[in-house]
Amino acid sequence: MGPPPDAQGPELVLAAQDFDPLLQVQGPDSATRTQGSEAAPRVEFQADLSRTAAAVRLAWHSEAEDPVLRTQRARRAALQHGMVNFDPAARALIGPELRGTGLELAEAAVVLSPDLPAARMALAQETWLEGHSPIAAVRGVFGALLAISRHFESSIWFSTTILYICALALIVGGLLTLAIYGVFAFIHAAHDLGDLISPALPIFARVALLGALMLVPLAFHQGLLGLALTLFSVGLIYGAARQRVVLCLAVIAVVVGAFPMARLAGTLLTAYLDTPIDAAVLATEGMALPGELRFLESVSESDPMAAMALAVVSRRAGNLAEADARYRDLLERDSENFAAANNAANVKLELGQVERAISLYRKSLATSNSATVLFNLSQAQGQAFKLDDVGPTLAAAQQSNPARVAELTLLQGSDLTRFTVDSPLPRRMLWERILTARAGESFATEFRSEIAPGVLGESAALSTGAFALIAFLSLLAASRLKMSHWCSRCGRRMCPRCEPELGTEDECESCNRLFHHPETTDRTMRAARINALQHREKRLARVRLAVSILLPGAAGVLARCPWVSLIGALSGAIAILAIYWRNGVTPDPLIAGAAAPMVFGLLSVLAMLCYGASVAFSLAERSRS
Ligand SMILES: [Zn+2]
Ligand SMILES: [Zn+2]
Repeated sequence: MGPPPDAQGPELVLAAQDFDPLLQVQGPDSATRTQGSEAAPRVEFQADLSRTAAAVRLAWHSEAEDPVLRTQRARRAALQHGMVNFDPAARALIGPELRGTGLELAEAAVVLSPDLPAARMALAQETWLEGHSPIAAVRGVFGALLAISRHFESSIWFSTTILYICALALIVGGLLTLAIYGVFAFIHAAHDLGDLISPALPIFARVALLGALMLVPLAFHQGLLGLALTLFSVGLIYGAARQRVVLCLAVIAVVVGAFPMARLAGTLLTAYLDTPIDAAVLATEGMALPGELRFLESVSESDPMAAMALAVVSRRAGNLAEADARYRDLLERDSENFAAANNAANVKLELGQVERAISLYRKSLATSNSATVLFNLSQAQGQAFKLDDVGPTLAAAQQSNPARVAELTLLQGSDLTRFTVDSPLPRRMLWERILTARAGESFATEFRSEIAPGVLGESAALSTGAFALIAFLSLLAASRLKMSHWCSRCGRRMCPRCEPELGTEDECESCNRLFHHPETTDRTMRAARINALQHREKRLARVRLAVSILLPGAAGVLARCPWVSLIGALSGAIAILAIYWRNGVTPDPLIAGAAAPMVFGLLSVLAMLCYGASVAFSLAERSRS
């Protein structure tokens, strides 16, 4: 006889209050959808939840003294209830601070919810602290990162933050590139504009005039995007061909970030705060409130996803006839739904209709070669005494996913009572729903209001049109205008109107004489001037180095590598934003855990490497020329 359950080790607590943090992060509308009295739903909810929880708990507190065996039984109970990832149990296990004493708990959490990144990160941490196995811990971290894509809510949560960071980085990087080029050309533009009015205009008046002109869009409440229009114009007029191409790319980056990318980020951000998607996923995880189940019921006629979630709930609750009817209905509507075919077969098997079950498994396998379905089929074949078929079926399952088959075979063990596993809602179905919902526009509008509160922020077409018009006018002006520029050696301004004799050479006359016709200059004066120019160059080199490193995008501009400036500005923006949002742009709904700073930290490090490479390349280019 083993010791009493409580003495056996950790308690797997699965009371309803453990789920409260989870329900709170699902957003306000879980509550608003729960119309009617608040007290009644909570009781029902507890009852619905307890079916799976009780089964898992019973298995957890079974006679098994071996913790591994106990975990396996709990896992089997969860799988039989259709819980491929039983997140609440995993969260309950890793919930308390483990800190080097919970290796066993973390291992159990990963078995019960193998795709939950938070559980895998907790296991990696415990392996490091308690198992003293750094290599295994690092492998565990990689396992957690790979698990993200397999865990539906986690893939949405991570994608949201990454898209948000990318949208903002495109805007910031694009604007920065436009600003740097605009500012670099500003002083020439101010001089040339002044020349159009009066050659006698003092420099401060010229600067004030152009400054005021460039700020006009701000006065019309067009925000930073309006200012970007004027910076773009100045940059285009004074830029060489390569620079113009990069400025156009910078504009495209801003527009893509502010419109489609922001909308996509908003769609993912709101996918979970709305719609039957949230309710359906919660229902299949056994965590839907009765209000949410009623909501699913109300739309199940027209919504196959809601109907499927309710079918899963029905089977779990033991209402086999109802589940059977729901699946039949679903398959009539969409015969390609391989998950529904598998789950329908599981119900048929429980109803004792073995032949019908086998044909449904085959139907599911025609669309998707799932190891789980093959395993279920082998169960049905065993039950129908088609023992010759069992071997090939299991071999095919083995080929499809050896790890899955190994786990299922292990869980079945010597207990040969029927053990079948439901398929979760098909990912394709969920993603299609989210992406076609186009729910992100209101978020994107709010997001844009910071940089483009005016008419420019209203649509991508409008803002692209405005930039295209400015590009046309600027290029037209550039073809008419004689532009001033700096002497490439001494930095003196060379204006074709104020000093027509200087021509359009790269170097001013005195530099030209000094470096190309030294025989025409005085020896001592020449030495003094070259000395002064060298000093100036040294001083400038120090300033350039500081600006190149500190201001993303500046390195490429100073080295006259426009491409590198855009790459530097974008990667610098990503590096800073990813560090700032290392814990996600929305609170972690207990799924990412330590995986969040790991993923966003890695993103930041990669961007920083890219930024460092762009700076190094620019400095090398500069010193080479
Ligand atoms: Zn010069
Ligand atoms: Zn001039």
